[in-house]
Amino acid sequence: MAIIVQKFGGTSLANAQKIRSAAKRVIKTVENGYGVVVVASARGKQTDRLIADALELNPNPPKREMDQLISTGEQQSVSLFAMALDAMGYDAISFTGGQIRMITDGAFTRAQIKSIDAKRIHSQLESGKIVIVAGFQGIDEQENITTLGRGGSDTTAVALAAALEAEQCEIYTDVDGIYTTDPRIFEDAVKMDQICYDEMLEMASLGASVMHIRAVGFGKRYNVKIHVRNSANENVGTIITSEESEMEGVVVTGATVQKDMAKIGLVGVDNVPGNAAKVFAHLAKAKVVVNDIIQTEISDEKANLSFMIGISDLDAAKQAVDEIRGEVNCEGVFIRDDIAEVSVVGVGMRTHYGVAEKMFGALAQARVNIDSITTSEIRISCAVDEDQATDALKAVCLAFDLDKPAQERTKG
Ligand code: ADP
Ligand code: ASP
Ligand code: MG
Repeated sequence: MAIIVQKFGGTSLANAQKIRSAAKRVIKTVENGYGVVVVASARGKQTDRLIADALELNPNPPKREMDQLISTGEQQSVSLFAMALDAMGYDAISFTGGQIRMITDGAFTRAQIKSIDAKRIHSQLESGKIVIVAGFQGIDEQENITTLGRGGSDTTAVALAAALEAEQCEIYTDVDGIYTTDPRIFEDAVKMDQICYDEMLEMASLGASVMHIRAVGFGKRYNVKIHVRNSANENVGTIITSEESEMEGVVVTGATVQKDMAKIGLVGVDNVPGNAAKVFAHLAKAKVVVNDIIQTEISDEKANLSFMIGISDLDAAKQAVDEIRGEVNCEGVFIRDDIAEVSVVGVGMRTHYGVAEKMFGALAQARVNIDSITTSEIRISCAVDEDQATDALKAVCLAFDLDKPAQERTKG
């Protein structure tokens, strides 16, 4: 039996009417002859509420207990979804991550999937049931409940689609698909028909929250066809595939803005082998995720080292830097907690020139100062003041015609 995985995000399950309408969509797919595995997120803002409850009692809750708590949002959704299907006359069964042996490592609140036992799901599908799986959660080898990081239900869905060899993984959300940039920030953003894994990986890692980055990683590794679409209409959404767009002249396919960032600079570190290794080993030990590392030699004796982090990691990063700065003979530490990153992404950049110049020109015209610049083969990122982030994104989108369909773009 061909299988389709259908994942419904929080807004698509916010109330009884929305759960019913999601259930009807599932039934339609079942009636078309597919085995359907539903992956459900917590309803509406339930995860945020649970986190707020935790923080009211303890500003620094043990991460194990946090996962034990926030995984309950998904558990509510799956049972309600199964009940809705039952009320419509369809046989459904819901499972938690643990019940389908979604085994993860033990990194609470940001666990990584190690294995999935597809047998239990297959046997339920074969007995004619619709299977509903709680997104975002798994268990570690010691049977502790773990979660995959905010937005992680996408990853559950794509990982399941890979494990079940599903024909397609449909991600139902509150927008029509992947846009050139977040349509809630730049309302003239354009929906794409398709985007390749590499571009989507970059966009997700740079703040396009529409897809969880590790979901895209699984998609790429196991070649899962991912279809991102709106749960509120029948429109065709965006397909994430391995095919790169062959449209000549389209160099930049999307833009992103990532707020809630911080930057730490270590000024005047001793310019000797091993110092960068020491600093980043220490940050890794503190479980701080680091991006956009820039190191520059400023003299024979000294170098400057800076990197970006999410603001939620700032306290841990500051502490780690304070502990290690003496060892690397650092003269000063410079911290910015009011920074955002605006980026452009496109596989076409590999073979075209002039993209950086156009981006910097657009920012200059919008009177946005660039704090630092980092690039990869298929992206350019500029750190800017957080309060100029939205203006910066809009200026960049207009410069690259991201308000027009790809075939109408003239400016490269
Ligand atoms: P869900 O609860 O369905 O998982 P999310 O809030 O995680 O939904 O993702 C959908 C949101 O992602 C949209 O409402 C949109 O604001 C945001 N988003 C950010 N970047 C993009 C983009 N490039 N294309 C589409 N949506 C985007
Ligand atoms: N409920 C989780 C969150 O809000 C996971 C998800 O929605 O994908 O982050
Ligand atoms: Mg999401």
